[in-house]
Amino acid sequence: MKKYTLVVTEKPDAARRIALALDKQHKPIRMNVDGVPCHAAENSGRIVIVPALGHLYTVTGERSGRDFYPTFALRWVPRFLAERGAGRIRVWLSAISKLAKGAGSFVDACDYDIEGSLIGYSIMKYACGNKERLSKRMKYSTLTEEELERSYGELLPSLDFTLIEAGKTRHEVDWLYGINLSRALTIAAKKASGKYETLSTGRVQGPVLMFLGTREASVKCFVPTPYWEMKAQFESGGQIFEACYEKTFETKKEAETRYNECLRKTGRIEKITTTRHLQLPPPPFDLGTLQGEAYRLFAYTPKRTLEITQRLYLDALISYPRTSSQKLPSNVDYRAILRNLNRLHRYKSPTAELLALPSLKPREGTKDDPAHPAIYPTGIVPGRSLAAPEEKILDLVIGRFMAVFSTPAVLQCARIYIKVGNQLFFSTGRTLLMPGWRKFYGPYACMEEVLLPSLEEGQKVKIEKVLLLDRFSQPPSRYNPGSLLRKMEKVQIGTKSTRADVLQTLYDRRYVKNERIEMTDLGFEVLETLKDYCPAVVSVELTRELEHRMEKIQATGDTREKVLDDVVSILKPALEQLKAKEKIIGEKLSSAMVKRRLEERIVGSCPVCKTGKLMILHSRKTGKQFIGCSNYFNGRCSTSFALPQENLVSVTSKVCKHCGWPIVLTRTRRRRAWMLCFNPECPKKRRRESGLQNMP
Ligand SMILES: [Zn+2]
Ligand SMILES: [Zn+2]
Repeated sequence: MKKYTLVVTEKPDAARRIALALDKQHKPIRMNVDGVPCHAAENSGRIVIVPALGHLYTVTGERSGRDFYPTFALRWVPRFLAERGAGRIRVWLSAISKLAKGAGSFVDACDYDIEGSLIGYSIMKYACGNKERLSKRMKYSTLTEEELERSYGELLPSLDFTLIEAGKTRHEVDWLYGINLSRALTIAAKKASGKYETLSTGRVQGPVLMFLGTREASVKCFVPTPYWEMKAQFESGGQIFEACYEKTFETKKEAETRYNECLRKTGRIEKITTTRHLQLPPPPFDLGTLQGEAYRLFAYTPKRTLEITQRLYLDALISYPRTSSQKLPSNVDYRAILRNLNRLHRYKSPTAELLALPSLKPREGTKDDPAHPAIYPTGIVPGRSLAAPEEKILDLVIGRFMAVFSTPAVLQCARIYIKVGNQLFFSTGRTLLMPGWRKFYGPYACMEEVLLPSLEEGQKVKIEKVLLLDRFSQPPSRYNPGSLLRKMEKVQIGTKSTRADVLQTLYDRRYVKNERIEMTDLGFEVLETLKDYCPAVVSVELTRELEHRMEKIQATGDTREKVLDDVVSILKPALEQLKAKEKIIGEKLSSAMVKRRLEERIVGSCPVCKTGKLMILHSRKTGKQFIGCSNYFNGRCSTSFALPQENLVSVTSKVCKHCGWPIVLTRTRRRRAWMLCFNPECPKKRRRESGLQNMP
């Protein structure tokens, strides 16, 4: 049999699309090698396309076991050797090896970025038998047929070894940090409590805990100071409008003096100013900005948004989402995309308007990415019905794409100054003169207009009412997933693809809770431990510097060996410190963990005795779980409620809409979850809640 070309992709969906695009008849043959789905296509020769399942290889220690540290000797192995539950990878790799034997040439078609390049390289080198120097590289940003065909016709002659080196370095550095620090914390806690429970921290997690800790401390230490605000309502021609006094007051006495001076007086329009502002269209989406908008508009966590965009990409509906670019290069055929979108009813009129323009020039942002353009829609009509969140994100991407080609919006701001005796008030209005791009960004760009009555300078206005308001200064606000992501981006730690995971890990480890990110006691203990004994690990500067060096390997200069050596020299003394103080660290961490476990069982206040706390408990006699009052233990309240026995029950911060009691989350073994009101008298007994997020 004649030798074929073996094309390796990162995911099964991509393999299917590439097969469909490359086969001349668009009818590739589905094959199955030991349970691994692959495809045969005819192009200018025979092609076999086989997918990976993301990373098939990973870093692990030379020495097995998990109860020792430091450990600096590492090696790359197939994932099934290092991770539990990765057994499928064994079959997968043997299938790829089998296919490689019959292949005459090799093409790496994994996603074009650090991770994808590393995935493809490892497969070529290890599974295919040192084919990494022979393999060609397919580079594309969308999974549309035209782009895949074009990219296969213009294969890059070799793999990008600088990108691969950067990827290797990143994985190795992260492994060194993660494994050593996590073990130091976990082992310390285990020695103190006798219980094994993973406590983790990593290279990026440390500095992020630091921001959160600093913010949390300033929220907790905040002492609100009182101040007073004065407002007045004026009337002109039957229309009432409100104006603010020019400043706020620090004492009540001063506030009241001014207040009294304004009573029963008439106002006079002192001055009216109007200014016009041009508001440029927003730049096209890079991943971070899209995650921020999706959080602002739909409250999706960054991780969830990334997952949704990943699915839309694999359906060829949008371009590659893991990009930091805010640019749309001219080789993206804007007109063709708009024409495609024009076939969809809801985009008919806005796209027609843009297509009528003599030329299309996108507004671009400053951020760039060598591998991919900004995120844009392909205009392809979805081949399946999309879930509501997918539809929302797709619509957002389309709206943004249309907006970048439009004109600036023109806003008019008016300010009216009103004199009441010697006192000055002012009122600000805002109107949209020309919607420009705002029309295309539609509901995502809503702006509240504030209309002022038409008045003239010198005109008298009647005072309807003067208001004196008691105010308190506000504490700094806690981070939310969107603002934390922006902060990480701003200080340049983590990468676009990993930032969402870092945040999720903090939630999973219970270092933080709630949507307005609040640090838990356990989070504080971990942070304090790191700050006291290895400050380098939580240092933003050091983390950023390392980040830059790893990035620069891509360009030139620094070598992987040098970076790894330096990382070891940072970690070694830090780990020695942790080991020397193991006892005290362990005690602090384990007492925070005991407290956390207790807190995790508190459902809410007892509605019967009002002083106790309702908790999820297990009966010693029967082993059954139930909800009981903490005052049971001192004999003051015996309130208890039954719970379903087979399910996992956990605490939520929500209350029942129908009766106001706290509700718990229950989950069956099949992972079906719903909110349960355990109040036997509740007007509505049980309701299912769909679309639960993984955010606690
Ligand atoms: Zn009670
Ligand atoms: Zn209820």
